[in-house]
Amino acid sequence: QVVNYAPFTLLPSAVPSALFEQAYAVQQDFNLLVDAISQNKEFLEHALASTIEVDDFTARLFRIHMQVLEEGLAQSVFLGINRSDYMFDCGVDGTPALKQIEINTIAASFGGLTSRTGAVHGRVLKVLGKSKEASRLLPNNPSKGLALGIAKAWELYGSQSAVVMFLVEEVQRNIFDQRCVENELWNRDIRVIRRRFRDVFEKGSLDDTKRLYMDGQEVAVVYYREGYVPKNYDQQNWEARLLLERSRAVKCPDIATQLAGTKKVQQELSRPGTLEKLLPGRAEAVARIRATFAGLYSLDMGEEGDKIAATAIADPDRFVLKPQREGGGNNLYGEELRQVLEKIRDSPERTSYILMDKIKPQPAMNYLLRAHSPLQVSKCISELGIFGVYVRQGKEMVMNMAVGHLLRTKAIEHADGGVAAGVAVLDTPYLV
Ligand code: ADP
Ligand code: MG
Repeated sequence: QVVNYAPFTLLPSAVPSALFEQAYAVQQDFNLLVDAISQNKEFLEHALASTIEVDDFTARLFRIHMQVLEEGLAQSVFLGINRSDYMFDCGVDGTPALKQIEINTIAASFGGLTSRTGAVHGRVLKVLGKSKEASRLLPNNPSKGLALGIAKAWELYGSQSAVVMFLVEEVQRNIFDQRCVENELWNRDIRVIRRRFRDVFEKGSLDDTKRLYMDGQEVAVVYYREGYVPKNYDQQNWEARLLLERSRAVKCPDIATQLAGTKKVQQELSRPGTLEKLLPGRAEAVARIRATFAGLYSLDMGEEGDKIAATAIADPDRFVLKPQREGGGNNLYGEELRQVLEKIRDSPERTSYILMDKIKPQPAMNYLLRAHSPLQVSKCISELGIFGVYVRQGKEMVMNMAVGHLLRTKAIEHADGGVAAGVAVLDTPYLV
């Protein structure tokens, strides 16, 4: 009913080219890692054991995961679309380092809109008489790459008449971002339908070979742009999710891959030896991945958790306290972190959180343009995301790519929050 422009910076932001290249270079490794975790039942079970005791949402996802495995997977083609996010941590000597904030394995968004932001910033630079600088902005079209992955999965599913289903929210604020990907699929003569969990509950069904049907149409690929936070689910929606997961359709992501993207898994990956076990014989990939890790700490009950909790209470500004939630606005910082951690430090409730070192990037000035907000110059920091796409058929990886980037920028007074949370805005990297 109301159309606004997506928020954006007036000017592109400087990004160190070495770190930009490093982020691209590690993306295929992260694709392999996420895929390996999703196939490793023991690892997921072990990593999430303490969390599912106290976090109901993760526990419900995990139960579906186990149920589907017990029945036997009907799905044989797997499609991952993720976005690995980074900030540029400013060391004591002023040298910036690439540090991963998180990896999003479900509903990673803005691949569509960001395929257009480069053109906006190119025009702004030209208006300012900076044509040379405008010509240096990089081409970037993640929506095309995401569609390539979806199209490949659709093709391997092997039914010409089957459709791709975008699973979308009840209220859709970010529809145009999704349309960019959808259009790429129509251009390849692949039919796309958009449905909600509620529609799946009412009209979805499986045949005796677990093929998924919606309104009589066979569905080859389910692309989730929904289903990543508790408020997306009521009892019917959980049933719909289970139906989808049990089906033969390619889920992007399947529930195991969604679990691979939890904050708890991220923290467990940082334990010595874990990456080596998940990616045997890939020492170089392991080294590239590990180089991007910030300090991550478990709050599991026991001595290790007691110690780090005490450290964080004494010096909260060094850390971020993260629950198992997505979508921005859930993390705790500073005084609030101290208060919450003090309250739960002796209770198992603390295991629903992880602690992470706070990344401290060098701020830069920019203008943030947002509909209905006054224009003002702000001290800003940026977060770089790289989109990864992979397709696996049985045991064989048939596609593994980095397909584009996203730069989001926010004013430094906001500790947390993405574009959808109304804090960050779309930006374009200007490599320096
Ligand atoms: P979400 O799943 O909610 O997006 P994130 O881990 O990405 O969770 O955190 C949300 C935001 O909080 C990030 O976009 C970033 O601005 C900020 N943030 C998260 N972790 C850190 C960190 N370790 N240091 C500094 N800022 C962080
Ligand atoms: Mg995030």
